[in-house]
Amino acid sequence: MGQDYSYTQPSSSDELDLTYLLESEAQIYKDEAESSLYIAESFQYTPSPEADDGIPTTCYCGSEPEIATSHTHKDPGRRYYTCPNVDDGECHIWKWWDVAVTEEMTEVKRQMRLLKDQAFQCDQNVVKLQKTVCELQKTVCEQKKSVWEVKKPYMRIMVSVLTVLLCFAVMYMSGISSKT
Ligand SMILES: [Zn+2]
Repeated sequence: MGQDYSYTQPSSSDELDLTYLLESEAQIYKDEAESSLYIAESFQYTPSPEADDGIPTTCYCGSEPEIATSHTHKDPGRRYYTCPNVDDGECHIWKWWDVAVTEEMTEVKRQMRLLKDQAFQCDQNVVKLQKTVCELQKTVCEQKKSVWEVKKPYMRIMVSVLTVLLCFAVMYMSGISSKT
């Protein structure tokens, strides 16, 4: 880095030093390759989703973003999110404050709509469940009724048999008491 690429013309102008020229060119290519490698290495932070949408909570480097005020002619007094480590030359969060807040509000609105939809769906499910419970209660009542309907004739027969038996018993008892 910082290589001086200007080369001095050989003292004898008629004799062109080709070797020196080729060496210089090779050095330029080498430096370019190294510098592009350096740039590639400097962008090692991968953007995290929470830093890209809405109000940034974490910088790519892991630091907490801070708010600063712009002093440019184009945006004087406009606030923006930046990183306390911005001077290290790495890739850090940078975002207009008003853009971040607008994004955040849009996201909050979207989530509220989602919650409302879910609440509505819950209400619908409660109504459905209440209907099902009502229908089940009806079914249980009807089944109890039908069971009684089946039992009824048998109960009648039982009552009749018992009555007859009781009559015989009374007659037998009264026969015994009249003999004595
Ligand atoms: Zn940072």
